[in-house]
Amino acid sequence: MIQSNYYNDKTVIFLDGNWVKAKEATTSVFSQTLHYGIGAFEGIRAYQTPSGISLFKAGSHFRRLLHSLEVLSIKIPYTEEELFDITQKLLQKNNLRNAYVRPLVYMNEDMRLTPARKAHVMIAAWEWGQLLGSGELNLTLSTFYRPEKKSLPITAKLIGNYTNGVLASQEARAKGFDEALMFDVQGNIAQAPGANFFLERDGELYTSSSASIMSGITRKVVMEYAKELGVKVHEQAITIDMIHNADSAFLTGTATEVVSVRSIEGEQMKLAWEDSIGSQLAEIYQHRIRNDDYHSMTIV
Ligand code: PMP
Repeated sequence: MIQSNYYNDKTVIFLDGNWVKAKEATTSVFSQTLHYGIGAFEGIRAYQTPSGISLFKAGSHFRRLLHSLEVLSIKIPYTEEELFDITQKLLQKNNLRNAYVRPLVYMNEDMRLTPARKAHVMIAAWEWGQLLGSGELNLTLSTFYRPEKKSLPITAKLIGNYTNGVLASQEARAKGFDEALMFDVQGNIAQAPGANFFLERDGELYTSSSASIMSGITRKVVMEYAKELGVKVHEQAITIDMIHNADSAFLTGTATEVVSVRSIEGEQMKLAWEDSIGSQLAEIYQHRIRNDDYHSMTIV
């Protein structure tokens, strides 16, 4: 009997053009990705909607994957549309409706620092709850700063970039917090390790415009929903003073969805979550991902 949070005896994954049982999939211990973290990935959520399974914002995710690969000069033989079709088949083959989809591009054997000539394309999916639970998070300010774009291309979802976030998260948990909030190199608030950050003050929202953030797809969607509500969103530098004066705050991300922050460094948010703009946006988000059919299995 297989003990895994991600697959069972029957689970099938896509690997380099083939459908392979997850339990039988293998890779070389000389893969350049294992040694240097070269490669890229995505995280996409599929939701059951009344009109079928929706792969939320699939187009944006596959475009970001292709962008990430371009940054590393890695070529794969699939277009955005083909990746979408493969993912659709993957969900069908595994009988998954509400699932997290993980496309991963990893490298062949190569010990040089130049990208290996051959890349592998793997796509797996599994049922996964909200990454950080349902919210009310207690955040701590991390001693690990987000890298800036002169050090790492942070608009790309590169495997190696994630060491930074793992260190911040690990530090936060060790201190008894739920998650970290990270600075950029200028000393302004950037984001959480795997999610974007918003704060509310006087009925308006603020989110970082720093060059050190990964400007997430959920962040963009939530900003559109805020616009629909008539709420002004400022993309600007988020100073530590703004944190002290925040009425409310929340995190956004594909795996995280939209979740509330209860406190930052022990300082409680002034508004009850139910009375915040974030709460309204979280509700709209939950409704749209499960009801909108405009994006159902079509690339948008
Ligand atoms: N920042 C980082 C570093 C992330 O890994 C993620 C998750 N992909 C996000 C932000 C949120 O991005 P998205 O809304 O596109 O999932």
